Amino acid sequence: MALEGIVIQIIPQKERDLIARFLLREGTTISVYVFGGMGGGKNSKPRVFEPGNLLKFELRRSQSGHASGETLGSVSEHTLMWQAKNIRHDAKGFALACLYMEMILKTALPHQGEDINAQSEHGGLFNVLSNGLFYLDQSLEKKNLIWENHLLLFLSKFLLHLGVLPDESECVYCGSSLELEACAPLILEQGGFTCENCLSQIEESVETNLPLRALLSQAVRTKFQEWEKLPQTPQTVNVRLIQFWCYQFQVRLPEVMSYKLLF
Ligand SMILES: [Zn+2]
Repeated sequence: MALEGIVIQIIPQKERDLIARFLLREGTTISVYVFGGMGGGKNSKPRVFEPGNLLKFELRRSQSGHASGETLGSVSEHTLMWQAKNIRHDAKGFALACLYMEMILKTALPHQGEDINAQSEHGGLFNVLSNGLFYLDQSLEKKNLIWENHLLLFLSKFLLHLGVLPDESECVYCGSSLELEACAPLILEQGGFTCENCLSQIEESVETNLPLRALLSQAVRTKFQEWEKLPQTPQTVNVRLIQFWCYQFQVRLPEVMSYKLLF
């Protein structure tokens, strides 16, 4: 079976093998075993199974079951389709790419059999990651990276495709328009923003001077390639959106390793 996807994690095995986890074009993940995947050896083969790389590969289903009861296919042939040139040479850029992949790893659903149609609804996730990495690499090349803006664009599209993007137009409690409330607070437990009136009736103390709603609204309508059109995104806006994702998917923030590299 021929598949195409972005490597989002590698786990070394034995001396030169590895298990690679992919985000497939359909937006689901799959783990595959790669004999000799670590590269090196007599011919000093380069390692193409690196996180962030886009590969096309032929999957061979293994006959024997895995210890866990899952069967892990192995890669027979593979072709490198795309590789970032600049990300690994820049500490911030690298950390950002790691965060993208870690968030995907913790959220995307595993690939189920060969029923592609049933999974195409998740296909947007692949575009979010591939665009995120491509434009990150491009702005490192141009030396004009504003990583906070890239992260905001990634998060807005990521949450959209996961189906949990908070509705930025209406108050989650009363449904009134939030158009004039740029700093309407995001209430994690409600999955949406609150108007000033409803805020006065809830106990929770929330930050009320963060332009999160206005920026999110703009980011959702901005393409990755137009990231320069966004105003400088405050770090706290991204932090709040990551907290929101954690709440929605029951991820503990201290367990997101690459978060600590950025904030
Ligand atoms: Zn309200």
